[in-house]
Amino acid sequence: MLLFTPGPTPVPESIRLAMAEPTLHHRTPEFEAIFEETRKELFKLFNTDEVIMLATSGTGAMEAAVINLCHTTLLNINAGKFGERFGKIAKAHGLGSVELKYEWDTPASVEDVLKALKKTPSIDAIAIQISESAGGLRHPVEEIAKAVKAVRPEIMIIADGITAIGVEKIDVSHLDAVLAGSQKALMLPPGLAILGLSNAAIAKVGEGKGYYLNLASEIKNQKKNTTAYTAATTLTIGLGAILKEIANDGGLEKLYTETAARAVATRGALEAIGLHSYPSSPAKSMTTIDDENASEIHTILKNDYEVNVAGGQDHLKGKIFRINQMGLIKIYESAWVVNAVELALAKLDRRVYDGRANKVFNELYFAEMAK
Ligand SMILES: *Cc1c(COP(=O)(O)O)cnc(C)c1O
Repeated sequence: MLLFTPGPTPVPESIRLAMAEPTLHHRTPEFEAIFEETRKELFKLFNTDEVIMLATSGTGAMEAAVINLCHTTLLNINAGKFGERFGKIAKAHGLGSVELKYEWDTPASVEDVLKALKKTPSIDAIAIQISESAGGLRHPVEEIAKAVKAVRPEIMIIADGITAIGVEKIDVSHLDAVLAGSQKALMLPPGLAILGLSNAAIAKVGEGKGYYLNLASEIKNQKKNTTAYTAATTLTIGLGAILKEIANDGGLEKLYTETAARAVATRGALEAIGLHSYPSSPAKSMTTIDDENASEIHTILKNDYEVNVAGGQDHLKGKIFRINQMGLIKIYESAWVVNAVELALAKLDRRVYDGRANKVFNELYFAEMAK
């Protein structure tokens, strides 16, 4: 079965083997050396002033960012389940909460954000997804952050990059916290989250808030290559290994180029067989198709063609399917996925199979790679 859900993503065999080593104690020079190496690679991936690893799923990093960087009112952009979650976190901690809501195919706009800031002057942090995984949507986060910093430089910008870090190069110049999670673009099992922080964010963290998710204690410890509490040792080893593997496989630029080419080729191939791409501004992390037969296609892919894609949630349940583009994916696997979608359409009597999806996929992919 090919796992093509936009998280969890498949863990490469070499990484599974790297994580099969005997358990290390976390307070040892041996582990601290691994931690230091992994941190070094993370700085190259994030390009932020600081990076912090937390033993939690991605939501833990969202909560850590909100409680440490928002002291009065959070503005959250809700164009899907993950954006909505930021608002729920703010409310759970008794913070003020203002939400900008969009349909799940629609990116946030700079004007709306600036208007919201004018209306509620107490807003001191903005939380937004770079790639909102609910609909495979790319928000113009860098543009929004730049515009916000031009008028209110003290406002913290929290960018959820859980399906963006490791997918494309992000301009972090105006971002204060950038979040990643192990089980998405980083190709690891779930359980490790990473925060990239700006110096302004570190200043705002001050003494920190919360207990387990207190970023002040983590910053202090992780600068010394250790953690406040027990580190996720096995996942840290896996993270170091995958980042080294990416570096040895041509580096981040090659990974970004291939990911972008796969995203373009997959979308083009599926459009060529009459399907429709859902988001008006598609993220490179996944390809999202809205279709009246979405749930049948999803089932046929799994039962007949050994392809596991993801469906939709909430009001998009049964209305979309999402194909992963994150990670080191073999090109022949992606070609099979679009071919399997065409076969599924033929089964549903939607078209006569002629191999068009596979052909267009290859044409577009190699044209992108030749650019
Ligand atoms: C998966 C995901 C999360 C949540 O991560 P968990 O690991 O499930 O807690 C947050 N944001 C985005 C954009 C995601 O795709």
